[in-house]
Amino acid sequence: MDAWSRRKFFLTTLAGSLAAGARNLLGGQAPAAQAAPQGTRPLIISSANGLNALTLGMGLLKRGLDTLEAVVSTVNVVEDDPNDNSVGYGGLPNEDGDVELDASVMHGPTRRAGSVGSIRHIKNPSKIAKLVMERTDHLMLVGPGALRFAEAHGFERINLLTEDSRRRWLAWKETMSDRDSWGPGLSDPEWKEKITGLLPSHWSEEQKAAELAYIRELILHPPTGTINCCAVNEKGDISGTTTTSGLAWKLAGRVGDSPIIGAGLFVDNEVGAAGSTGRGEENIKICGAHTIVEMMRKGMSPTDACLEACKRVAWSYNNDKARLRKFNISFYALNKSGFHGGGVLWGTPSRSGRRPSYAVHDGVEAKLVPLAPYFETAAS
Ligand code: ASP
Repeated sequence: MDAWSRRKFFLTTLAGSLAAGARNLLGGQAPAAQAAPQGTRPLIISSANGLNALTLGMGLLKRGLDTLEAVVSTVNVVEDDPNDNSVGYGGLPNEDGDVELDASVMHGPTRRAGSVGSIRHIKNPSKIAKLVMERTDHLMLVGPGALRFAEAHGFERINLLTEDSRRRWLAWKETMSDRDSWGPGLSDPEWKEKITGLLPSHWSEEQKAAELAYIRELILHPPTGTINCCAVNEKGDISGTTTTSGLAWKLAGRVGDSPIIGAGLFVDNEVGAAGSTGRGEENIKICGAHTIVEMMRKGMSPTDACLEACKRVAWSYNNDKARLRKFNISFYALNKSGFHGGGVLWGTPSRSGRRPSYAVHDGVEAKLVPLAPYFETAAS
């Protein structure tokens, strides 16, 4: 499950467990989302966390703005959101407590691309990736060089670590080992209750319990999370972007698939676009987004092409489900004619019964559409 949804699903799960229980008693799944009409332009799609921002992107496409403007403006909404802990401001940090962001953009009509890796202190890495494309003769800038480049273009250096993310990182740090000096010392009456003392004392017991449970989940399953967004306009021009804070608690300097052109994102204006969220290490090995676009070039539907990428990920582990079960990865694609689709390695529903999905705005409304699962459920 992506990190954005991890928090929201988690809270939804707590709040909605009764409703979910009732559905299960009745033997039913959560109601399936309606399939979006296919073959319409303009069209904009994203990972599920982009749902609420797609209306903005569609509005820009309808007003005739460039497709890259539309997708970057769309993901900026999610990058700016402190409550989305998988992207931009509020993203969960690396093991040192530093938020390091990755992003890429690709502009179909001019066949150009730009990206940044491990950039710190800049809220909207997708904007910097676009600037790398527009204002340099390079394609990718990383680390301190990327930050200096952003500052040279007037971007403000800010602290990306929100209070929530800092507390959760400290909780992870204190729980990592009982052989280091992080956390309450032996002489502290609360020395065994490592996380509790980090919670604001003015919170209600209910708030504390929910946060404790959420933090424990983050520690057990360090989340990944990203937003990928691709669009095709009325005349068939295509662009895409992928932006992320990557894997929580990662090693400093770890770069995932999001800024890697051909892995986290690929666009060919004659064919279509694809992107990915989930465990980037697996995607880089199979050049997922490029593979999907090449499969669509050969005539595959976006969904089948995404499932082909899942198949290659599974093949990396000889289809060994015991290992594959340890992670998940999703792919999203659209083609030049305005058809879209997506695939996910594991279709395991969330605890509230929701199946993995992606977001689509087909010009009429923004909605979630189920991803086609490669394996039905990781539970068996
Ligand atoms: N793909 C991203 C990465 O590996 C993380 C994610 O999408 O969840 O950095």
